[in-house]
Amino acid sequence: MREIVDAISWYNRILVVGHIMPDGDCVSSVLSLTLGLEKIGKEAKAVIDYKIPYVFENFPHIERIEQSTDFEPDFVMVVDASSPDRIGKFQSLLKEIPSAVIDHHSTNVFFGRWNWVDPTFAATAQMIFRLNKELGVEYDSVLATLNYLGIATDTGFFRHSNTDARVFEDAYELVKMGADAHFVAKEILENKRFEQFKLFAEVLERLQLLENGKIAYSYIDYDTYLRHNCTDEDSSGFVGELRSIKGVEVAVLFMEFPRGKIHVSMRSKDWFNVNEVAFELGGGGHPRAAGVTFEEEKIENIIPKVVDLLLKRFEEGVNREGERTAQRDVLGG
Ligand code: 5GP
Ligand code: MN
Repeated sequence: MREIVDAISWYNRILVVGHIMPDGDCVSSVLSLTLGLEKIGKEAKAVIDYKIPYVFENFPHIERIEQSTDFEPDFVMVVDASSPDRIGKFQSLLKEIPSAVIDHHSTNVFFGRWNWVDPTFAATAQMIFRLNKELGVEYDSVLATLNYLGIATDTGFFRHSNTDARVFEDAYELVKMGADAHFVAKEILENKRFEQFKLFAEVLERLQLLENGKIAYSYIDYDTYLRHNCTDEDSSGFVGELRSIKGVEVAVLFMEFPRGKIHVSMRSKDWFNVNEVAFELGGGGHPRAAGVTFEEEKIENIIPKVVDLLLKRFEEGVNREGERTAQRDVLGG
């Protein structure tokens, strides 16, 4: 972080870049860093090469995130992205302009000139919070709310296994500085379209259970999205719901949107590392939440490919877990 703070002092026109299929942590990190840089007198622009999901439409400054820009930066700061393909068309800038990557994915491939990667943080937004404080940025309630957004969403509103004391400390500090926790929860969690529920009903009808109900998977093909007047934005929370089924360790949802592009979302509950499977398939993520995207593919080909690999890794994992459990029993732990 120190080196990135130094680098920021050398540059004046800074482009802040988030990842495609942006989530709350991405939007939060992009806007908090952009506003922070402006507060210390930099010229900063925010970009994401993707449509911003409608759940973020009422957040302050959301309209400042552009899909394209003619801004000519002297420094590029990439947040919450583990590999260059995750920033879409903006990856071409990395060849020409000095860059810093700030991220919390253990699958990060260190693609910036400077890389601050720390998987012990639950959210990239926590890293931006530290960077902003180091830069001497003053927080108002708007910036605090935007910065809080990523911490809330990447911890599943303080429920995931990454919810540690530092998460609550950061959330506490931000709420004390005026972050509106209720606004964030209401906008993200209580903004569902009725069509979404009908689409989810279809996901449940198609649900497949394997390994005695420990693995659950389902799919939404493009025609099903169209039939329910839904987009991929509507299904972003579904895989978490599948994981919440009693007895499920791994949940996987295959989403074809638009036609031929298949995003695979994976979640696990207690021990299985989904990021290893995602990484093997060309994607990435965290131990309990990971994903991979296939382009120009057929969903009926992708499903068996992913499920076969998952079953293989799951069985290996079950055996390793068995050994660990046996060892713990021996040790009396
Ligand atoms: P989701 O399943 O919600 O799309 O993503 C879960 C996690 O996996 C996020 O941390 C996200 O950054 C990561 N992830 C999702 N899709 C991809 C992908 O295509 N490539 C990589 N590298 N990571 C992904
Ligand atoms: Mn994140």
